[in-house]
Amino acid sequence: MKYAFVTGGSRGIGKAICIKLSQAGLPVIINYKSNRDAALETKQAIEQLGGKAELMQFDVADKTQIEKSIEEWEESHPEDYIGVLVNNAGIRDDNVMFMMGDEQWQKVLDTTLNGFFYITRKILKHMMPRKRGGRIINISSLSGVKGLPGQANYSAAKAALIGATKALAQEVAPRGVTVNAVAPGFIETDMTKGLPEEELKMQIPAGRFGKVEEVADLVAFLASENAGYITGEVININGGLYT
Ligand code: NDP
Repeated sequence: MKYAFVTGGSRGIGKAICIKLSQAGLPVIINYKSNRDAALETKQAIEQLGGKAELMQFDVADKTQIEKSIEEWEESHPEDYIGVLVNNAGIRDDNVMFMMGDEQWQKVLDTTLNGFFYITRKILKHMMPRKRGGRIINISSLSGVKGLPGQANYSAAKAALIGATKALAQEVAPRGVTVNAVAPGFIETDMTKGLPEEELKMQIPAGRFGKVEEVADLVAFLASENAGYITGEVININGGLYT
């Protein structure tokens, strides 16, 4: 059976992606870091809609935990494979560069960029030999495309994710694996709570923040069989804020 694996699936955009991929017919592995209750809510939402989901707790910045968790999953699912990987987990910890601490820089890069590397490398070893192709979707950001002040750490991590997406897409295309990045603008989630929404909305041509379901729809299309000739792309979803 083909599974989808979504990092940071307990809340926000990741939760919506888990639900959408489940509605597209895939059993979903929901990764989360610490919020077990929220992860269980995602699982229950999927099951109520008739889908199938499993939880997999680990910190995406922890290579040892990742390798152990995925190996355990492989051992307990000898007939199954992960055909869709969504690298969604991410954090922000904003500060102007001259005030930014080493830890603020390191933590954001460890989660967003190193997390992508550790997981994708591990899943590729699992995905490639199966010769059934695959889909990798990396959640980047407007911040990685345009750069946003106060986010040098986050912009650097999200821009690096775009570079890695383009390089990896060329490496794995012969195996039928596509790799794309999605770059959302301002989306209503816990991450954007506390931002000056009214002020920011005035800068967005669409006049509003995006919804998690809108990002999830795009990801579900990129994950579908029909998207097999789209690879190495960065798709903005930002209400016209930056093109
Ligand atoms: P939220 O803060 O709402 O949710 C973050 C999710 O990531 C949670 O499920 C959280 O798990 C998980 N997570 C965080 N750190 C780790 C970690 N170290 N290991 C495993 N899981 C982790 O974020 P959003 O839904 O807003 O963002 C999702 C992605 O989209 C991020 O990559 C973000 O950078 C990106 N993005 C968001 C935008 C927005 O406007 N919201 C705009 C552009 C990009 P737990 O519940 O256990 O804490």
